[in-house]
Amino acid sequence: MPNSLEGFFAARSASIVDACTSCGHCHAICPVLPFTDAGDATSAAVTASVRGYLDQGAPMSTPAQRWTEACNGCGDCIPACPEGVNPRQMLILALTRGAKSAARTPHLFRKMSRAIKLMAGMQLLPAEFSRLLVPPRPRAVPVVFYTGCNALRTPHLLFNTMMVLDALDIDYEVVGGPSSCCGVIHTKWQGDLGTGGRVSANTLGRFAEFEPQQVLNWCPTCHMHLTESLAAFHAGSFDINHVTDFLCQRTDALAAKFVRPVRKRVVLHAHKGYRGVGDNVARLLGAIPGLTLAETVYESGYTCGGSGCSRSPGLQALEHGHLLDRVRATGADTLVTLYHGCHAAFAGSEAEGGHRVLNFTDLLVEALGEAPHEDRNKQLRLRRDWDMIIAEARPYLQANGLTFSDEWLREWLPQVFAQQEFKGGLDCFAPPGSVPDQHRGIEE
Ligand code: SF4
Ligand code: SF4
Repeated sequence: MPNSLEGFFAARSASIVDACTSCGHCHAICPVLPFTDAGDATSAAVTASVRGYLDQGAPMSTPAQRWTEACNGCGDCIPACPEGVNPRQMLILALTRGAKSAARTPHLFRKMSRAIKLMAGMQLLPAEFSRLLVPPRPRAVPVVFYTGCNALRTPHLLFNTMMVLDALDIDYEVVGGPSSCCGVIHTKWQGDLGTGGRVSANTLGRFAEFEPQQVLNWCPTCHMHLTESLAAFHAGSFDINHVTDFLCQRTDALAAKFVRPVRKRVVLHAHKGYRGVGDNVARLLGAIPGLTLAETVYESGYTCGGSGCSRSPGLQALEHGHLLDRVRATGADTLVTLYHGCHAAFAGSEAEGGHRVLNFTDLLVEALGEAPHEDRNKQLRLRRDWDMIIAEARPYLQANGLTFSDEWLREWLPQVFAQQEFKGGLDCFAPPGSVPDQHRGIEE
């Protein structure tokens, strides 16, 4: 087994090139194609181009390039491959190789970590801020709850999850934030496999310091990177599961602790890319007394956001519109979100009236008879007035020792909230000298 990520990915690419016959089945069934300007190339020609890129580095054709960039990770292609190749991973390897020669989002990790710190600092009290951003002292625990990085922008759902773990009397520690990144940003987005491999290894090593039996992922992107992309790269002494698998296995124990009926009629938003997570949440919601799950709407992609459904904006707009239609058509009073990216995508829809937007963890905590953690991300989004947002965030920023002028916040917060660093923006956090000073906005 190669011990560098570069060698590991080269070996994976070689085995895909060996197995793939360029039959084109994966391309032919791909749901994002009607929403890409991919021309009329045959599926066999497009897949042959991707295969040739992984094999020899021959430049991909335009249709192959567009397909690779538009993949939202839905996973429909995985069972379609007669050769047992995972085409979703084939495209991730092609994206990674492309980013290595010309990253479209340079300095993404640096920009993202600063944006996350700012957003968490606008919403959390200092003790909460430290709990998510400062690694705890290692001690032996059966469970590590791994938050990843971007979920810290919507921290209430992480604290809700902790309340549920507490209710189940689980002994766990929380690991996450940019200092414990899974490595996907350096690897897939920046094409820097040397740093990406080190970051992943450091984080997996940090998990090991707690001697856990299980690491529970919150973030679907971390989950895909650590369990699907890096499968067999690091053999750990612990299992890595999604936190909803863990909770779902304890549905009966949780149901026994539900003391408060939650009289809501809800539509659950879920994704096909990890269908089991949506199924888990549907089962958990089914155990809440008083709650009616009117419908679960599975949409394409493995998550909302930058590396999920946002990669195919036309399909995303159609499916998000369909979800809101189903909320109205079923008479639901609540739209239930799955991941942090989904919550950020839909929280603003509450302003339309007619329904509330809650995360499934809000409902679990409510059923436990406790108050869910305040969803300040949604409260701020619903203000729709940057001066009001800044005024509300100011005391939290000061308490967390983060100093930004009102003028700076007014200029850059819209990009921070929209996660523009994943589209090449947010130059205010780029390194000095890497962009013209007027784009940087702050001095360091
Ligand atoms: S994961 Fe989904 S979007 Fe990506 S190539 Fe496969 S079918 Fe297409
Ligand atoms: S990955 Fe599988 S389905 Fe896609 S072209 Fe290759 S062999 Fe065919």
